Amino acid sequence: MTSAALRSRAWKLLELVTTPLLPSDYLDLVSPLRAGADLRGRIEAVHRETDDAATIVIRPGKGWRGHVAGQYVRIGVDVDGVRLWRAYSVTSPTSRTDGRITITVKAIPDGKVSNHLVRRMKPGTVIQLDQACGEFVLPKAKPAKVLYLTAGSGITPAMGMLRDTEFDDVVMVHSAPRKQDVIFRNDLHDLVADEKLRLVELHTDTDGMLDVTRLEELVPDWAERETWACGPAGLLDAAEEHWARHGVTERLHTERFRPTVVVAGEGGEVTFSTTGKTVAADGATPLLNVGEEAGVLMKSGCRMGICFGCVTPLRSGAVRDLRTGEITEGDTGVLIQTCVSAAAGPCDLER
Ligand SMILES: Cc1cc2nc3c(=O)[nH]c(=O)nc-3n(C[C@H](O)[C@H](O)[C@H](O)COP(=O)(O)OP(=O)(O)OC[C@H]3O[C@@H](n4cnc5c(N)ncnc54)[C@H](O)[C@@H]3O)c2cc1C
Repeated sequence: MTSAALRSRAWKLLELVTTPLLPSDYLDLVSPLRAGADLRGRIEAVHRETDDAATIVIRPGKGWRGHVAGQYVRIGVDVDGVRLWRAYSVTSPTSRTDGRITITVKAIPDGKVSNHLVRRMKPGTVIQLDQACGEFVLPKAKPAKVLYLTAGSGITPAMGMLRDTEFDDVVMVHSAPRKQDVIFRNDLHDLVADEKLRLVELHTDTDGMLDVTRLEELVPDWAERETWACGPAGLLDAAEEHWARHGVTERLHTERFRPTVVVAGEGGEVTFSTTGKTVAADGATPLLNVGEEAGVLMKSGCRMGICFGCVTPLRSGAVRDLRTGEITEGDTGVLIQTCVSAAAGPCDLER
């Protein structure tokens, strides 16, 4: 008998012994980061950045394929017994040599995962991890001049890029409510001291929200710069309009942490027929959240309509795409993105 056949036989025997669990379930307990296991990461440290933000150091398991500066990872965390997935930008450079990566999280009011990560996460915890993805990245050919236009936690992908790649001429315009709310403030000022960055730091509590037309005065050559922008929807909407008005849309790259919701309508009764639950939903709450609140095991991904990790067949009824207002009716089991769709009358999802 070949050694492969012997191994397979031994594994089958082990399966009999460990039933109802699988041998891999036991291996997960002692070696969760091993090659061949579902990708996981171990939290090795949590560093406070501001009162409500922290950097989390993660050691990914053996299957980790690395990232490109600016990309994000999805992590699955157990919060009060429920596994929740969220996306976070990688803030460490690709050149980091100790096999670890970092994400930096800002706790938002009532945020389930962000508060758990910032305030309660303990080193040693094993989390679920996905491979890095996302198109908000630096190009292979270095642009001559770069602008990072960021606000609040939107600084995270830009910091990943700043730490990763040096440019001859790079400006960052960053807004936060107050000085003490600026995530990575010391790192940014170190870069300024080393003449690697020109920083325009704005405090919205005293200076007000940035009006993008002020870029003419703050960064007079802004239109010549390859720009990466990340922050609240208001800033990004204004930037997209401003760049379009000046005919330089192709120089602006944006990343949104939340989908832009343009339309909400009447809700309806939502049935999760596989689970056997029916709940009332308004016309503004994504069906993903409706299901999670009802205790239905929902598939999820980026939670903003880009990764298609949440698609679920709509058995009947109608749903509204919260980004466009478009109605989809589901008597054919059409796949819908539950993270950006809300009930538009009664509907039945295959979950
Ligand atoms: C590509 C991508 C990269 C991201 N990178 C980062 C990152 O590096 N750092 C980081 O802190 N976050 C990042 N996010 C946001 C992150 O994924 C979560 O949305 C955020 O942490 C909130 O999750 P929660 O579970 O705490 O909030 P939830 O419990 O899901 O929501 C609580 C309440 O807050 C609202 N809400 C949800 N998300 C946001 C938000 N982003 N801003 C304001 N209100 C919100 C909800 O509508 C709800 O009312 C990223 C998101 C995407 C899509």
